[in-house]
Order: sequence, then structure tokens, then C-alpha cells
Amino acid sequence: MTNNTKEMFGDLLLDKKIVTALTEMGFEEPSPIQRETIPIVLEGNDVIGQAQTGTGKTAAFGIPIVQNITDHRHIQALVMTPTRELAIQVAEEIGKIGQTKRIKALPVYGGQPIDRQIRSLRSGVQIVIGTPGRLLDHIRRATIKLDNIKFLVVDEADEMLDMGFVEDMEEIMKNLPAERQTLLFSATMPRPILSLTKKYMKAPKLVAIHKEVVTAPSVDQFYYETKDKVDGLCRLLDVEINGKLIIFCRTKKGVDELVIALGTRGYLAEGLHGDLSQNQRDRVMKKFRAGRVDILIATDVAARGLDIENITHVVNFDIPQDPESYVHRIGRTGRAGNKGVALTFITPREFRQLKLIEKAVNIKIIRRQLPTEANVLERQREMIVSKLQSVLDQNNYNDYLPIISSLLKDYNPEEVAAAAVKLMQEGNKALEAPAETTIAPDLGNTGAKPGMVRMFINIGRSQKITVKDIIQSIAIEADVPGKDIGMISIYDKFTFVEVPEEVAEKVLAVMHRNTIKGYKVNVEPARARD
Ligand code: ADP
Ligand code: MG
Repeated sequence: MTNNTKEMFGDLLLDKKIVTALTEMGFEEPSPIQRETIPIVLEGNDVIGQAQTGTGKTAAFGIPIVQNITDHRHIQALVMTPTRELAIQVAEEIGKIGQTKRIKALPVYGGQPIDRQIRSLRSGVQIVIGTPGRLLDHIRRATIKLDNIKFLVVDEADEMLDMGFVEDMEEIMKNLPAERQTLLFSATMPRPILSLTKKYMKAPKLVAIHKEVVTAPSVDQFYYETKDKVDGLCRLLDVEINGKLIIFCRTKKGVDELVIALGTRGYLAEGLHGDLSQNQRDRVMKKFRAGRVDILIATDVAARGLDIENITHVVNFDIPQDPESYVHRIGRTGRAGNKGVALTFITPREFRQLKLIEKAVNIKIIRRQLPTEANVLERQREMIVSKLQSVLDQNNYNDYLPIISSLLKDYNPEEVAAAAVKLMQEGNKALEAPAETTIAPDLGNTGAKPGMVRMFINIGRSQKITVKDIIQSIAIEADVPGKDIGMISIYDKFTFVEVPEEVAEKVLAVMHRNTIKGYKVNVEPARARD
């Protein structure tokens, strides 16, 4: 094939209806794994597909399956995925591919009421996508019948293995009709996967799309060397980064710690790792996708397979362990022609590891200096100036002129304006008398709104704490009207709540070492950077 005869979806002998659906989805041409896999599946072969995350494996099996599904309303294909999030994602994609053929795809997973799933299954779906445990549950209840299954897909097989699903997978495969096609996809092919394929697949054809070790050129790559990565990260968040970002940490514990460290400094972030229940993962992803939180902190494993759009920055808070995972991580940004930025933190000892990555990936990661304290202030000032300019341009601040007129009796205009800007930049801190010893210096800057103090409470969702619990206990115990309580952010293991400055001391005195919902709590002012 020469360059100017690119193969299009229409050339793969697909149904017109499917080509229409793909066009609607914005797919212009098949990706390499799709180009190779689709014809082999259509010919009736078993396939083992190996390609990196984000290469379009879902449609590689989704398209030929949809093509082969009849409009009989019984289950004709089963897809096993390692997580609920992926089950939903795959079901959505297959649903879109099958839309014009009116093929119905249903995700089933643990955590969702089984009765509801049974009802949906009865409504006549042709493709079921699920986690192995829940699929088995349905198979045992005979709410999923296997007699008419023509396709079995094992998606992200290596991750299934990591999550200990092998027995469940085998149990399902043993019970399927022999007359079926089995398609298995995986980013890597460890030995146990190969032995599964020997046991349960018929003369499988191998499609391996070799990793391009060159990174996407649209990703700008920089690194920062520092001993205090949290402080460095906060400076970047203040000065450089504005957009949607994923921060990678090496361990689950690292993820938790960074979520807390950022939270106490007033940056809203959500963590994603293997210890979260499926419900928690869903909630986090929903929030991130909807843009209600811009910072997602994840481990490599937790972020694997997830397809998230419009990531502007990838931050390697911990340097990745190998070049492959570096490529994987930074490939999360700079998609679809957008420019992406990848920022890597290293401690002085990790310099060698960085060089190894550079060499293996054959790229240059450019050294950069972290913004200084002065840069941070300067940037904040620039922001204030530009915000003021746009308010001035809007020209509708007349309501506030009387305030200024009254102040002008005692001060001149520059003084009034400068004080207002100081208040904008420093918030409550501007109100502190400079040299005076404050009674509670910690209440200075907790990252709360002006007039409020942000408190950290060491219990959260894991203790089934709700917004109502927080409001009630502060209202009752500290006698603060519920309406005066400000923003409440409940995380898994802790909560932030903002209370008015005037009552902060009291809330602290009364609530600290008190109990909420029977849990003894620590309450302290959040520590923001100042
Ligand atoms: P993988 O399973 O290999 O990690 P996905 O199937 O999740 O990859 O696909 C990654 C993204 O690319 C998805 O948003 C998907 O809709 C999109 N995609 C897949 N195939 C194509 C294509 N041929 N053209 C454009 N986008 C595609
Ligand atoms: Mg996938």
C-alpha cells in the first residue's frame, strides 16, 4: 500500500450502516490495529491483539462484532473487562457503533443492583460487557444465557490477570459454546495469558502493533529538579498550569498523600487508585470529566485504559519507572491535534533515571527552573490586573462607587485602590496587623474564601459522612447557623469545611476531639501556603 491509497473503513467490507455510524462518531480512517484486526475477525478467526492503550482496540473488536450480530434479541457477544469504568466505556463505544443497526449493548458490573440489570437484560440486548464476577453471577442465575454466544472478547487481558480474575475468566470460557470466536486484547502478553489463549482459543491469529517509541511531537516535555516536590508543584499550579491535568504518582499511598497535601493548600484534586471501590472510581471520573475538578492524581495502573479528553498537562510527580510508562503517561495529553505539556519532577538522585528515559525514548526533556516565590506573586498580580481591566471594561460597577466616595473623604484614590488590590491578593491576611503577634497564626491563610477559615476534619466518605452530618454537628455543637457554613468538600478519608472567621476559634475549640457520627475527630485549620 502506498501513501496515497490510505485504506478507509468502507474498504474493509463493512455494512453501509456501520460506516455511517463510524462517520457520525468522527472516525475518518481505521487505526492500525483496526485495519489489521477487522478483516481477520470477519473471516471467522480467533484473534490475539496486542497494542498500546489508546490505539482503538475497542472498535477493533466492536466493529466486526456489530457487523456479525443479527437483530435477534438474544445475547450474541460477551465482553469481559477488568473494571466497571471500562465496561461502561466499552459499552458506550459499541452502542455507538451499533446505533444505526439498532444493536443494544449493556454494561453489567458489581455494585449496581442486580435486579435492574436483570430487567435490562430481559429487554433484549445482543452484547453484554461486564466484569468477570458479575458476568458469572448472571450466568449462574441464567439471566445471561450462553447458548447463542458467537463472540467472546477478553479486553485488557493483562490487567484482568493482575486483578486476579483468571479463575472467573476460565469458568466463563469453559461454559461457552465451542462454536464461537474468541478475541483477546492486551497491552502486554505475559506467560499466563499465552497459556489461556492456548487452552481456549482456536488457531488464533496474532496482530501486534509495535509500539512507536517516538513520543507524540505535539507534547512539550520539561523537567524540574527539586527536593520539595509538593512546593514545586504548587508553584507550577499557581504560575504555569491552567487546564485539566493528570498527576502520576508511583504508589497508592503517594496518591492519597498528594491529594491531602494539595487539598490542605487549597487546590481541589481527586485521587484514583486500585483501593477505591468501583463507586468511588465512578464518582471521581464523573467529576473530572465534567470539569468539576481539574486535577486528577493517579497511579499508572488506575489510569490505564481510561480514555479522557482534553488533558492539557501530564505531571510526573514521581518519575516513571521505565521508558514505556513515560510514553504511556505523556500520551494522555496532546491528543487530537491539541498541544500538550508533560512536566516531570525529579529529585537530584533521579537524574540518571531521567537520562535513561531520554535515551530509550530518543527525545530531549528540557530542564526548567521552578517559578520563584516572586514569580508566583508576579503572576498573581498579572491576574489581578487583567481581572480588574475586564471589570473596568464592562463598565457596570456603579453600585460600588458610593463606597469609594465615602472612603475618599479620608483617603486618596491611589490608597483606596491599592488597599482593594491588597485585599484581593492576600485575602484575610491583608487584615492582619503586620507586627502584632496573632493569637491563632494558623488561621491566617487556610486557602478559604475571604472572611472564611478552612478547617480540615480527619473523617470523610469512608466513614459515611455526609454534608448534612457536617452541617448538623457544627450547627448544634458550636452553635453556628447552618446557613453561615461555607463550602464543604468531602473526600474519602477527610473533609474540608469553611466557617466564618468570627466563629473559627469556637468551632475549633468545640469540635476538636469531639465526635461526628460516633467518630472521634481531629479538626484543625487547613494549612495553605502563604
Ligand atoms: P484502547 O482500547 O486501545 O486503549 P480505545 O478503544 O479506548 O483504545 O480508543 C481510544 C480513543 O480513540 C477513543 O476515544 C476512541 O473513540 C478513539 N478512536 C478509536 N478508533 C478511532 C478511529 N479509527 N478514528 C478516530 N478515533 C478513534
Ligand atoms: Mg481498551
